[in-house]
Amino acid sequence: MSNSFTLTNISQLVTNNSAIGDGDLGVITNAAITVTDGIVSWVGQASDADSSVAKTDVGGRSLIPGFVDSHSHLIFAGDRSEEFAARMAGVPYSAGGIKVTTDATRSASDDQLRNVARDLITEMQESGTTTVEIKSGYGLDVANEERSVRIAAELTDEVTFLGAHVVAPEFANDADSYVDLVVGKMLDACAPHSSWIDVFCDRGAFTTAQSRRILEAGIAKQLKPRIHLNQLEQGDGITMAIELDCASADHLTYLTDADITALAASNTVAGLVPGADFSTRAPHYPRGRDLLDAGAVVALSPDCNPGSSFTTNMPLMIALAVREMRLTVDEALFAATMGGAISLRRDDVGHLSIGARADFALLNAPSYIHLAYRPGVPLISTTWKDGNVIFTKGDLA
Ligand SMILES: [Zn+2]
Repeated sequence: MSNSFTLTNISQLVTNNSAIGDGDLGVITNAAITVTDGIVSWVGQASDADSSVAKTDVGGRSLIPGFVDSHSHLIFAGDRSEEFAARMAGVPYSAGGIKVTTDATRSASDDQLRNVARDLITEMQESGTTTVEIKSGYGLDVANEERSVRIAAELTDEVTFLGAHVVAPEFANDADSYVDLVVGKMLDACAPHSSWIDVFCDRGAFTTAQSRRILEAGIAKQLKPRIHLNQLEQGDGITMAIELDCASADHLTYLTDADITALAASNTVAGLVPGADFSTRAPHYPRGRDLLDAGAVVALSPDCNPGSSFTTNMPLMIALAVREMRLTVDEALFAATMGGAISLRRDDVGHLSIGARADFALLNAPSYIHLAYRPGVPLISTTWKDGNVIFTKGDLA
């Protein structure tokens, strides 16, 4: 027997489907949504909802697709708050700080790693996130990278092997030998648990040539590529990333006009992670406005990680994108939902069309604009995934 429910008296229902509502967000006002067996089975005007299905009145609040977080580093141990405080006092950020977390991660038990990640996923659900990609990248040896992706695979379908986060400390003076390990034994051990391969192509991490070698090895093992680049300096990796059909090129704090034109003409999503620019006090934010004006697809993510952006909060990213990168509120919300889904090459999440997964969040606000208008305020009332409540403040009648 099918299991259905309807939420009604929704002030604004954001569907992200312009065919069924207003604007690019496909907004339906005075709306209702019906879920059947974890799938959106109907959306429309509340007055048109099927009267035979049990209804819950949400009290004139707005409902949005669950956020799709396409970039996170949740498998780690240890604390780097002192490093953050020092950075704010003037010590510059460098990729080398990752090694601090590597020591703690290697020393942690599986359960310690699992519990850190679970707690962070709970935080994400409390702020409206329903899909999350999780990367390895703090083990940096075969055994610890393998267990990182194995634990990640317990928690999400979107697992990324990032053995090439930085060069492991044991290979400090021989990066190419570390790359040999990454594309050899480490990839063999990690590929069975992973869908994606990633590399940090930047100053202090890997060169464009090394990054190409790593991504091509992953592709040969049926992993799909994504990439970190141009966080710390203007690099030359964008062309390579597009050529290899990376689903997403993330960070992009430094971009040339030619990079923007190339991304706009490609299938590679521009993954912007303004929490990292915020928490490292980058000299400027990525050129989000220019990317959208050129026609690129933009995804937003908090890039949760212990070194450069220790936040899980997507609404804060929306506020930063609007305030600092001059996205409109509509563009920022789209980037945090549909943009993330496109970045993960998923068509079942990030929107609330009929047939989509019933992943959505109810806001304690009459308008989704409050996500940017009320920065730092925990606006999420209730979060559903596959039609099940995964977080609630208990304020739903
Ligand atoms: Zn990252």
